[in-house]
Amino acid sequence: MQQHIDSYDFRGKKAIVRVDFNVPLNENFEITDDTRIRRAMPTLKKVLAEGGSLIIMSHLGRPKKVEDKFSLKHIVAHVSECLGVPVQFAEDCQKADAQAAALKPGEALLLENLRFYAEEEGKPRGLAEDATDEEKAAAKKAVKESQKAFTAKLASYADCYINDAFGTAHRAHASTALIASYFPNDKMFGYLMEGEINAIDNVLKNAKRPFTAIIGGSKVSSKLAVLENLVGKVDNLIIGGGMGYTFIKAEGGKIGNSLHEDELIPQALEIKKKAAELGVNLSLSVQTRVADAFSNDANVQVVPSHEIPDGWEGMDAGEESLKRWREIILNSKTILWNGPVGVFEMPAFAKGTLQIAQDLADATAAGAYTLVGGGDSVAAVTQMGFADKVSYVSTGGGAMLEAIEGKELPGVAAIRGE
Ligand code: AMP
Repeated sequence: MQQHIDSYDFRGKKAIVRVDFNVPLNENFEITDDTRIRRAMPTLKKVLAEGGSLIIMSHLGRPKKVEDKFSLKHIVAHVSECLGVPVQFAEDCQKADAQAAALKPGEALLLENLRFYAEEEGKPRGLAEDATDEEKAAAKKAVKESQKAFTAKLASYADCYINDAFGTAHRAHASTALIASYFPNDKMFGYLMEGEINAIDNVLKNAKRPFTAIIGGSKVSSKLAVLENLVGKVDNLIIGGGMGYTFIKAEGGKIGNSLHEDELIPQALEIKKKAAELGVNLSLSVQTRVADAFSNDANVQVVPSHEIPDGWEGMDAGEESLKRWREIILNSKTILWNGPVGVFEMPAFAKGTLQIAQDLADATAAGAYTLVGGGDSVAAVTQMGFADKVSYVSTGGGAMLEAIEGKELPGVAAIRGE
């Protein structure tokens, strides 16, 4: 049975906590953005404050073997500083028995990068390029087999399990999902994970209407499942950014050199058809800021989105589009935003994305629930200083996308399930 972190008795217990400390490091192994570490602190501090001890585990990067540059030793000092207690370090996540056993209430131990072992992900490594299907299947079976012992070892260190790693909740890895079965009555979400799940439920299950989704970014292909799920749930679906041009082309518009995917035109038409059948207002950009090169210094003009001249490409939403979208957003009670509506990394084409961030901030101030989820839109609201002006900013890119596709996340199911 699932427990709750606020009511669980941590006194004298050892908690193994999966966090997402996959932080960016520079060439001197200094942390360049510690958001993920800071977001895990409420959970970690709660355990210590309640008289428990901590075994903290995470991955860092995508190592395929033990590699110094992916060692979590680089972050121990910073984690200690944030947590306010010296954090011990276990150089091998599978050989931490003695250190875990010696932990006293109020003490913390960080395990070395879980992905130094193939068993964490349960995917075979080092297969020859020309491996046969039989060899691949045998390697997969072997790693799945040894994954059980790997998971059991991690579980043996602790009395209870907390998952606070939303960023990896869409993966059924040893530390994010499989380990939960060793703690049938002592497993729970951390505060960050709980916040993310509540935010998703607020939009996908309990949305106050009108409900508007703004989906931008580069490609339809990466967000097709998101669009297909949302079109059945929202009142307004705003499609902007690079992906919008596939829809505009599907409508017969001239899009010049704009980013588009011809092979996805049938799917775009299908989404349009479904929106029409369900009475969903599908709003594409009507006016576009186009450039004669994919560059911040390119020549620019503003044209109707369906009449982009040859040699020019759509880079940002034009004023007329932004005006229409603002009206929709300010009339909504629930708003989900994923993906920039222009090439916001270039200052000349960041205006549309900045305006959407402003619209969400204004809608939030007027009482709407606003969730910003998924990689680049999160970077955009954070860079532009709007992160604390919306209701919730998700920490999980891939996990948030899968959640809004309507999939059950393995990390969530493992805690909720029997
Ligand atoms: P995604 O990862 O799918 O959310 O896409 C984010 C990326 O989409 C950002 O790097 C933006 O620069 C890019 N993007 C947004 N609008 C456009 C556009 N009109 N043309 C090309 N790329 C775009």
